[in-house]
Amino acid sequence: MDVAGSRGRHIAIAGAGIAGLTAAIAFAAKGFPVRLFERAAKPQEVGAGLQLSPNATRILSRLGVPDRLHAATIRPDAVVLRRASDLREIARVVLGDEALRRWKSPYLVLHRADLHAGLLSVAARLPGVEIVTSATVMDAAFHPQGVTVAVEQDGRTRELDALLLVGADGVWSRARRIVGGAESRFSGKIAWRTTLRADSEAMAGISDYLRRDCVSAFLHPKAHLVSYPIRGGSAVNIAAFTRGALAGTGWSRDSDGAPLRAALADAALPLASLLDSVTQWTMWPLHTVDPASPWTKSGGAVLIGDAAHAMTPFAAQGAASAIEDAYVLAATVADQPGDIAAALARYERIRRPRVAAVVRRGAFNAFTWHAAGPVAAVRDMVLATRSTDRLAADFDWLYGWDADQALAPAPALRAGR
Ligand SMILES: Cc1cc2nc3c(=O)[nH]c(=O)nc-3n(C[C@H](O)[C@H](O)[C@H](O)COP(=O)(O)OP(=O)(O)OC[C@H]3O[C@@H](n4cnc5c(N)ncnc54)[C@H](O)[C@@H]3O)c2cc1C
Repeated sequence: MDVAGSRGRHIAIAGAGIAGLTAAIAFAAKGFPVRLFERAAKPQEVGAGLQLSPNATRILSRLGVPDRLHAATIRPDAVVLRRASDLREIARVVLGDEALRRWKSPYLVLHRADLHAGLLSVAARLPGVEIVTSATVMDAAFHPQGVTVAVEQDGRTRELDALLLVGADGVWSRARRIVGGAESRFSGKIAWRTTLRADSEAMAGISDYLRRDCVSAFLHPKAHLVSYPIRGGSAVNIAAFTRGALAGTGWSRDSDGAPLRAALADAALPLASLLDSVTQWTMWPLHTVDPASPWTKSGGAVLIGDAAHAMTPFAAQGAASAIEDAYVLAATVADQPGDIAAALARYERIRRPRVAAVVRRGAFNAFTWHAAGPVAAVRDMVLATRSTDRLAADFDWLYGWDADQALAPAPALRAGR
C-alpha cells in the first residue's frame, strides 16, 4: 500500500527494542518504508520475564505478531498477592479465560527475548523494513521537507533523509536530547532479577505459594517480589524490588543478593529459604524519565517507549506502553502524512494522559505494596472485602484500553458537525 504524499519517504527509527520493532511493523503496515537503526551488532533483549497485559496483546494481535510467540507464552490463571511475612493470600485478580472475556485479549507472561525474537522475525520479513545494525543515531537536522538523520556506522557518519525520526532508543536516549528532553533520573529503587528452572530444588520448597500457573507477588514494607513462569513453563522468572543507592555506573551488574535477603530477613520460611538458595542475581538500578519532558520536535522527531517515559515497573506496563505508543504513532502519521506537526500533536494528545495515568498507577502500587503497620492492615482489609469482579474492574481502564477506539474521531466530528 502506498501512502499519499509519502511515497518513498522513509521513517527512520533509532533503536530495535520492543518499541522500535513494534513501530517498524506498525509503520510498514501503514505502507511506509522504514529504516530501523540499532546500535548493537545483534538486536537483542537483556533481562528476563515480561507480563504482557491485554491492552498490549490486542495491538500485537492486530499487527500479526502472536503466531510467532505461541510456544513461548503462558496464560496465567491469576495474579495472586500475598504478604511476605506469613504468605497469606490477600487478593487474587482472575486472569486466564476471564481476562479474555473481560478485556477481549489474553494476559500473557513470557521471556522478553521471546517477544523480541517474535517482533524481529515479523519486522525482518516485511518488504518495506530495512534493519541496520551496529548503527548509532547521533543527531538530526530539520528542514521543511523533513529531517536529515546522522548515523554512525563503522566509524563513519552517514546522513539520511527521512519524513520522521522516531526515537525508540531507551532510557539513555540520544533522541531525547535531539527533541530537547530531560535527562533520566535514578528512582532510588533497585530491581533484582533471576531465572530458575521450574523443577529446581529451590522452587520445590515454595511451590504451594508460588504456583506455576499464576503471577505471584509477595508484599513487604522493605521490598516486593514478583514471580511467574516463562519459556512455556520450563522456567520461572523472579524479580524483586528494594530501595537502594547507585553503585557505580552502568545498567546492570551481578550480585549475590545480600541486600535483598537483608530486606526480606523476616519473610516467612519458604520465601526466605528460596532467597537463601539463589546466590546469583542481576541488579538493575531503575531510572525514570519525567513524563512531562518534551516528546516531539515538530520539524519531524518523536519519542516512544522508555525514551519518552521510562517508568518504574510497578504496574508492569513499560513495554505495553511502548507498544501502545508505536501503534498510535503510526496511525496518526498515516492519517496526516502531509502535516507531521499535526500528526505528532495528535499522538501526544492521545498518549500523554494515558501514560500519566499508568505512571500514577505504578506509584500507587509501590505505595500500597510497601505499606507497613496500620496502612498495611487497612490495605489487607479493603482487599479482603472486594469481590472478584470488583478486583478485576479496577483494571478495566488499563487492560481494556483499545488503541483503535482512542484513535477514532470524536462523535461530533464523525457526524461532520
Ligand atoms: C525489572 C523490570 C521489569 C519489567 N517488567 C515489565 C513487565 O512485566 N511488563 C511491561 O510491559 N514492562 C516491563 N518493564 C519495562 C520494559 O522492560 C521497558 O519499558 C521496555 O523494554 C522498553 O523498551 P524500549 O524499546 O522503549 O527500550 P529498550 O528496550 O531500552 O530498547 C532501546 C534500544 O535502542 C538501542 N539504542 C540505544 N541508543 C541508540 C542509538 N543512539 N541509535 C540506535 N540504537 C540505539 C539499544 O541498543 C536498544 O536495543 C520492566 C522493566 C524492568 C526494569
